[in-house]
Amino acid sequence: MSDTNLNCSFCGRPKMDTQLLVAGIDAHICDRCIQQASGIVQEEMKLEQAEAAEAFELKNPREIKSFLDDYIIGQEAAKVTLSVAVYNHYKRMKQAAAADDDLIIQKSNVLLVGPTGTGKTLMAQTIARLLNVPLAIVDATVLTEAGYVGEDVESILTRLLQAADYDVERAEKGIIFIDEIDKIARKSDNPSITRDVSGEGVQQALLKLLEGTVVNVPPKGGRKHPDQKFIEVDTSNILFVAGGAFDGIERHLNKRLNLQSIGYKSEVDRQKIDAENILQYLTPADVRAYGLIPEILGRLPVLTHMNALNAKALRSILTEPKNALIRQYKRLFEMDGIELSFTDGALDIVVEKALNFELGARGLRSLCEAILTESMFDLPGTDTQQLKITKAVVEERLKLVKIPELKAVS
Ligand code: ADP
Repeated sequence: MSDTNLNCSFCGRPKMDTQLLVAGIDAHICDRCIQQASGIVQEEMKLEQAEAAEAFELKNPREIKSFLDDYIIGQEAAKVTLSVAVYNHYKRMKQAAAADDDLIIQKSNVLLVGPTGTGKTLMAQTIARLLNVPLAIVDATVLTEAGYVGEDVESILTRLLQAADYDVERAEKGIIFIDEIDKIARKSDNPSITRDVSGEGVQQALLKLLEGTVVNVPPKGGRKHPDQKFIEVDTSNILFVAGGAFDGIERHLNKRLNLQSIGYKSEVDRQKIDAENILQYLTPADVRAYGLIPEILGRLPVLTHMNALNAKALRSILTEPKNALIRQYKRLFEMDGIELSFTDGALDIVVEKALNFELGARGLRSLCEAILTESMFDLPGTDTQQLKITKAVVEERLKLVKIPELKAVS
């Protein structure tokens, strides 16, 4: 057959009427049919994704936890509590859609209390990935800065909309992680003495959002573009996870636990208190004493804690999670044809230094950067095929790094 007599095997169009005719083994396809077919494939894939999202609802708390285990080291109590909270959140959505009575299941918004760098944000990120829902991470401290509190609260939703590519339906099923919630606490547990109006004001503004309300959200944030249309976002099915270090709350707990034991409990009972992980004894009353108003606590009904990371946990974080730091660096070097390895002694000393920084797992990243930057700069383009990091190498490289600098970059 001469070239000009060719037709598209799908639509029959002659070659001269097409922009492009691609030849297969026994057939030809024109540019239009390719585009159409591609559209069909994409639609199908979207359907599959939607089905996958539906299928998620069948995941039980054990399965949710097992997913979290792949990425997050330790934090057993928080994982179990969050797995149940997420599961109940989705059951609540299902029941709201199906129920014919007036029973309303309360939202399972979560309050995560624990020191910095222990995985609070990571927990929210991992859940969002599991559920395939958009996630917005916002810092509660910025909410105190603007004069108009309401406007700022809306900006939280603008972030979520952006994360959802402005798909309102997706955003309405998303997760919002509010970091540093402790920073908007009232400064004193006696409201009549020191009233921190701004902190309390932000807490008040958050109440409705946490509970579930319809908010008019300016799509690009702020009100700089007065003519832009507002987007209505219903927060009823958005899962809120609030996190905070609540510095000093341990002292309060220590005091409370010791006080309680005097006169009432025997010495044996007192010893049973696990002093290393004191946060496990946290109750909503402790958080309230710290300065979160009771209404906020009521809307963050699931309270759990993250433990400080000890040497064993930090060591595992370096190598074990699916996207562990050392694995990430190995991959980076691998792309330059270099095999990176760390000796046990090297890893131990990284952990030891990280503990000194008191930045939780965050210190690990800064340390690895400090140790490897020189090699990442020097080695690409050379014949080097192996890079072995020993204890001596770590000590040598870290000698050049001043600790305050390391704190600043993390
Ligand atoms: P937080 O929100 O508690 O301050 P992040 O979740 O931001 O801490 O943790 C900082 C980094 O440290 C994360 O990117 C993560 O890689 C690592 N990390 C922290 N805690 C853990 C953990 N328990 N398991 C695995 N990695 C962790």
